[in-house]
Amino acid sequence: MNRWTFLFILMLGCFISVLSTCTLPPNAAPPDTVTLVTISGPAASATTAVRPTAMTLPSSPTPFPTRTASPTPPAAATTTATTIPTPTAPSVNCLERIPGDGLLTLVTREFGLSRDYVPKDLVPLSDYFSNNVTLGYPTEVRAVIVEPLQQVIEAMQADGLSPQIISGFRSYSAQSLALQKWLEQYPDWARNLSAPPGHSEHQLGTTVDFGSPELKYMIGDENIQFHPAFAQTGEGQWLANHAPEYGFTMSYPADAFERTAFYHEPWHYRYVGPELALTLAADNLTISEYLQQEQPQPCLVK
Ligand SMILES: [Zn+2]
Repeated sequence: MNRWTFLFILMLGCFISVLSTCTLPPNAAPPDTVTLVTISGPAASATTAVRPTAMTLPSSPTPFPTRTASPTPPAAATTTATTIPTPTAPSVNCLERIPGDGLLTLVTREFGLSRDYVPKDLVPLSDYFSNNVTLGYPTEVRAVIVEPLQQVIEAMQADGLSPQIISGFRSYSAQSLALQKWLEQYPDWARNLSAPPGHSEHQLGTTVDFGSPELKYMIGDENIQFHPAFAQTGEGQWLANHAPEYGFTMSYPADAFERTAFYHEPWHYRYVGPELALTLAADNLTISEYLQQEQPQPCLVK
């Protein structure tokens, strides 16, 4: 091919090209869509690709996934003892509580008495018992328990025992001193051994601590007055078996720490009357458990 022939062919190709595509306006935008052919596998398929006109961000960025609130756990099942009456709101603070003359005032580590509460009918034991029983202490109790106490002491003496009454009514301030004494002797244990002031059944005047002349020999301590070994003395065993018949109940039995928050006090008896004392013994209930089941909450703890 010579030079002129080449130029002719070139110009002819250009002429044909102008007839087909160059009819578009020179500033016309290229079509937005083009057809691509992809080969995948044995069959070819046509797909349409869209040329992006501009990069746009979403109007609001996709939020990070947020932790969804954990589902509300189902309410824990609560059990309600059917024997406990519906509580009624007490109106008096336990620190100001002045009970009536009844025998069934609840006193625990939780429910206390006013520092001003002193029973009205206190009498000295020395008016009714010999020094062998009172050991010369100026012990007082409510008059209402003198007769049953005499019956207990006489019955024990008739059985050849030598019962002693070491403690009776204890005022709020006397209980405070008693706790102080225990704290000095047994700082780690005192609060388990002695109630804080306002929370001792002794303030009721219907509770006594018995003693036995055997105890000092058993323990080997001339001055010992209270010791769990009292339960093994003749007096301790007699009381455990017969006190309820005379209306006295052991407030803090050996197996009841979890229920009373007091360790075993085999010498500590409270008068509640024979009918209730026998019922408590038969049902293996302490007086505080019974009263909390049978009575509404007696005072505001805080
Ligand atoms: Zn006591």
